Amino acid sequence: MVDNTDQALVESIKNREADWVDLLRDLVNCDSGTFNKDEADRAGGLLAREMTGLGFAVETYPQERFGSHVVARKPGGGGKRLLFLGHFDTVFPLGTVAERPFSIAGDRATGPGIYDMKGGLAVLLAALTALRDVEAPVWRDVTITTVFNSDEELLSPTSRALIEAEARRADTVCVLEPARPGGEYTFVRKGAGMFKLTVSGRAAHSGSQHELGRSAVEELAQKIVRLHQISDREVGTTVNVGVIRGGERPNVVAAHAECEFDLRVLTPDQAERAQHRFREIAALQFVPDTETELTGRMLFPPLQRQRRNELLFGWVREAGIKLGLDLDEVVTGGGSDGNTAGQLAPTIDGMGVRGDGAHTDHEFMVLSSLVERAQVLALFLAAWPARAAQLSG
Ligand SMILES: [Zn+2]
Repeated sequence: MVDNTDQALVESIKNREADWVDLLRDLVNCDSGTFNKDEADRAGGLLAREMTGLGFAVETYPQERFGSHVVARKPGGGGKRLLFLGHFDTVFPLGTVAERPFSIAGDRATGPGIYDMKGGLAVLLAALTALRDVEAPVWRDVTITTVFNSDEELLSPTSRALIEAEARRADTVCVLEPARPGGEYTFVRKGAGMFKLTVSGRAAHSGSQHELGRSAVEELAQKIVRLHQISDREVGTTVNVGVIRGGERPNVVAAHAECEFDLRVLTPDQAERAQHRFREIAALQFVPDTETELTGRMLFPPLQRQRRNELLFGWVREAGIKLGLDLDEVVTGGGSDGNTAGQLAPTIDGMGVRGDGAHTDHEFMVLSSLVERAQVLALFLAAWPARAAQLSG
């Protein structure tokens, strides 16, 4: 089944399971919503402490609104480079941990951000520690960098440049985002953009001077219907108007209305076509004298199917087979920092824990998947140096 190093890695991770569950508890109980800077910094501090303990040089990139990003580096003897990405922010407001802290029931663990993606952070620490403890050649020979960012849930506005710079020199990028609900890894991710339409009209008394009004709400409503008509799930393009605002009272013709919407696409072509259509819709006029402004842009480019990433997944699969696991891959609509990194280096995503319910209060992770995924990651990494040359072929 497995050779001596593999066997030692598998056992080393299993033997320390309790430690990794403790670390996971500490991470989850940091209430690190993207805007909760103090709590996010506490989570970043925990990660910095762990990486320092592993012998990495840790650098923090201070942020004003968000937690400071934490980057850890360890040089290796050979020329190869591995990059690991994980975010420690969650989508939850301050107070969520007080309401529902980390807890375990059977093989389910819950708590805000446990699946997306604090479980993945624990997986990474467990795998790296095992590689060090068994003195695996990959630990000695490969330069390893980890980027822990605090703003991924906003599509990484302040960490993108950092991720790009590190990905550009990496031979492989592993992203510790959660596995899809079926346990799948992913290397094809849709691109994502955020946009906004802002409509200005003219207010008027809705009874006595209705004819003088120019309803921004009516204009926007017409446009929203057309935005939603762009969606074509068959080809992989979706548009979702998720927020609308406008008007002030029922008896006033609305002078202002706006909507925020999200675009998901599988290819850069689809992104171009959809944005072209956005501009056409913005330029339409249903209510005379209203004005519409379109703002926004693509934030994550699509991560398209690429041979080098298929190779990486093939190696992950082989690691799984050694452990008796039948691992699968899936195309996902969710964007991640893997979309950014994958433009620049071979990338495999979804290496984190199994579970479901990301971004909701019914989020959970399969507790035993912490050890399972760490074992897969460690075996994948142990075999990586001998194969890395194939990625540039
Ligand atoms: Zn995530």
